[in-house]
Amino acid sequence: MNRTIIISNRLPLQITIDDQKLDVTPSVGGLATGLKSFHRDGDSVWIGWSGLTKEEIPDNLLPEVEKKAREEACIAVNFTAEEIDGFYYGFSNRSIWPLFHYFMEFTEWDADKWEIYKSVNQKYADVVIENYREGDNIWVHDYQLLLVPQMIRDKEPNASIGFFNHIPFPSYEVFRTVPWREEILKGMLGANLIGFHTFDYERHFLSSVSRILRHQVQFNEVSLPDRIIKVDSFPMGIDYDKFEQAALKHREVTAGKESELQRRLNHHRQKSPDSKLILSIDRLDYTKGIANRIRAFEYFLEKYPEYIENIRLVMLAVPSRSNVPQYQLLKREIDELVGRINGKFATVNWIPIWYFYRSMPFENLIDLYTSCNIALITPIRDGMNLVAKEYIATRTDQTGVLILSEMAGAFHEMNEALIINPNDFEQIANAIQQAIKMPKEEQVRRNTILQKRLKRYSVEKWADDFMTALERTREIKPAFK
Ligand code: UDP
Repeated sequence: MNRTIIISNRLPLQITIDDQKLDVTPSVGGLATGLKSFHRDGDSVWIGWSGLTKEEIPDNLLPEVEKKAREEACIAVNFTAEEIDGFYYGFSNRSIWPLFHYFMEFTEWDADKWEIYKSVNQKYADVVIENYREGDNIWVHDYQLLLVPQMIRDKEPNASIGFFNHIPFPSYEVFRTVPWREEILKGMLGANLIGFHTFDYERHFLSSVSRILRHQVQFNEVSLPDRIIKVDSFPMGIDYDKFEQAALKHREVTAGKESELQRRLNHHRQKSPDSKLILSIDRLDYTKGIANRIRAFEYFLEKYPEYIENIRLVMLAVPSRSNVPQYQLLKREIDELVGRINGKFATVNWIPIWYFYRSMPFENLIDLYTSCNIALITPIRDGMNLVAKEYIATRTDQTGVLILSEMAGAFHEMNEALIINPNDFEQIANAIQQAIKMPKEEQVRRNTILQKRLKRYSVEKWADDFMTALERTREIKPAFK
């Protein structure tokens, strides 16, 4: 097999420096799992940012950071705080992220940040070029690195380059508003294969390519004078076995050995055996529809007051990008909403929303997934949404109801869920009631189909399919050459 160079904004490593002591631990995110067989094959490498700025790494520790990263088959690229501010918090998260999720009102166009985005993309590309050997497959990930494929191609015209976009690609009417739209499309088209989670994102991208760059697009191929670029959809899966096994193990934990969180969840169930728990888990991001979800839950309690004291929303919001102003405002809005609704409906025995603003260790996620009867996942716009898939994978007795927004990429593979429009409170309230009343046989029937599908299309399969398709592009030759 050819050597693979993987490149993403962040390395799959957690690097911390505390009092001159360096600690490097591999992180176990979905992407790292999916790519394991390629990354850990032979002398393949993963190139990305260490997570620490140059200012945060003392000079004397720099060689050690590099050495430790190398031991994990990683190459750390280091940036200054100013670069991270312009590239990551700036252009990536204040321009591309909101626009690609259709939040045009949050989108800022700042020429200085764009310049930093370009120069940081060039630095990533330079490290790839330094490490490139003929025959390698290069796989570039996500919206922070849109320009990297062409930057590599400029120096290595024959390289085999794949690019995967993990967020939506917006419709042409939205994308065309980008001041640097040509540069971005050309950057992506440096790849031989471009992947998206869904057919719609793929379609939007192709339509932008044909209308903005006027390239010839036929089916899912873009023809340049000297190359053909293949564009396809590869819906990303999860490490299904990991979630299923963790849930099976969780069932066997004997009384007294469970986590503090699980004890609380059990206590709730024992106190009111007929009551239901509704789960929501997301990063605190305006794309996730958290505020809308809380309002829809309020509407549900108003419409169906018989469920007061018999239902609870368990909401985990993971802190994210908290130095971007919109995220700070959203945090305040959610705090207020939770406070207001808990104040409005609480009784001496009960509060409607349990709200956690933190990240939780994997074991606690499993506690939540396995203990909640309903998962309410209502993004306004979401590239995929893995939480929806993880919830289903942990329901090892096949009970549980997933309510899922049709604006999440995952919706296309999860039709057996109760599908809702996140802006339609009436529909959400009715879906919650339907979920509460859904007979067990129906839950089992729906989840059995979902589980079978998710198990088959795991994150490993996703990575494998993409790499196989990338290998195949080596055989494509333009007809006119
Ligand atoms: N997650 C986590 N810690 C938490 C809560 C969630 O690691 O405290 C994980 C969760 O298991 C899932 C990921 O974060 O794998 C979220 O992925 P998703 O696609 O749902 O949303 P994203 O954050 O990528 O937009």
